[in-house]
Amino acid sequence: MKVLVINAGSSSLKYQLIDMDDESVKAKGLCERIGIAGSKLTHKVPGKDDFVIEEDMPTHQTAIELVLKALVDPDHGVVSSVDEIDAVGHRVLHGGSVYTESIKIDDDVKKVIRECFDLGPLHNPANLMGIEACEAAMPGKSNVAVFDTAFGMSLEPYAYRYAIPEEYYEKYKIRRYGFHGTSHMFVSAETIRYAELPEGHQRVIVCHLGNGSSISASIGGKAVDTSMGLTPLEGLVMGTRSGDLDPAVVQFICDHENISVDDMLTILNKKSGVLALSGGLSSDFRDLSQAAEEGNEKAKLALDAFRHKVVKTIGGYLGVMNGADAIAFTGGIGENDVEMRASIMKHFEFAGIHIDPEKNKVRGKRQEISTPDSTVRVFVLPTNEELAIARETLRLS
Ligand code: ADP
Repeated sequence: MKVLVINAGSSSLKYQLIDMDDESVKAKGLCERIGIAGSKLTHKVPGKDDFVIEEDMPTHQTAIELVLKALVDPDHGVVSSVDEIDAVGHRVLHGGSVYTESIKIDDDVKKVIRECFDLGPLHNPANLMGIEACEAAMPGKSNVAVFDTAFGMSLEPYAYRYAIPEEYYEKYKIRRYGFHGTSHMFVSAETIRYAELPEGHQRVIVCHLGNGSSISASIGGKAVDTSMGLTPLEGLVMGTRSGDLDPAVVQFICDHENISVDDMLTILNKKSGVLALSGGLSSDFRDLSQAAEEGNEKAKLALDAFRHKVVKTIGGYLGVMNGADAIAFTGGIGENDVEMRASIMKHFEFAGIHIDPEKNKVRGKRQEISTPDSTVRVFVLPTNEELAIARETLRLS
């Protein structure tokens, strides 16, 4: 069975064709500048040169048609006909509080995705365009929606409700949703499987540390807490997002700088985080580490603030679950930043959690990095959101 995984953004569309017999990626690619002049598709097949098509893509529909053309191309394709694609899995940002797990798409599902435009204004409209484009280009195929918010739906009310008047929850469903859900679902399940954690001992903390960062606590693969909120702005210090801050800061800056709340949110999403703390140097941890090593105090401050918040969150979740059986690092930083991992875990030596410095040298591949006597096992476990979506699509098709 072959599953096409689609991640549609407002002007881009990423895809992967995965053969579910061995979970191998047959082809993957990216359509850029959809609806903008100069659109192009880059198609990659393992072991072959990239295939680039520079052709107008005024809509997501034309983009999908080009993707299918590339997939069946006699020289660069990987299937002889579109019929060989059995189902399509879509990454969808927001399922509101309606969908607690992935679901096969029908008119009702599309209606809910549309009703959640308010909650995911940048992503949900694009996700829906991707779905409708696939339905039009491949009629009759089953399409599955995998929601980034579904993982957070198992939180108890005391973990997901904000302590603000009830009417806002009743009227607008203002609550903590959590994002990166597909990654947290995948990594927590893979950690349980890889570590062979027995039932009753499956308390897992997943640290998804990348440009966007979040941490989840889950038991038996079901989330009990997660650091992102109504939007991905809450929680950790991120590449360009502020993470948690006193809401009064928004009012203060808006009043004093005479800017709107919208402007302020753009600042908090795009101009804050380690980028801001490093004095505008970079949001990229490789640049920051190098600068800090060379004595740049602001870069050091940015890295220290990032670590501080990660440590507080892991510590909080250890309390929430009355301990943990495993901690897994994933995302660009979690998978690759050896020093950051070591310096985070140093804070938990008091609890008997120990990293083996040799094992911790691993980058980008799954490995246990804790010592045999560590009270909590610690892992590096690369995330694979596309594979998670493909597995869900296979399960529901
Ligand atoms: P996104 O949230 O956009 O998917 P990623 O998960 O790809 O982001 O993570 C990007 C971050 O990972 C960047 O800050 C980058 O510097 C960091 N990163 C990637 N490789 C390394 C590395 N070898 N060492 C340190 N940081 C790394």
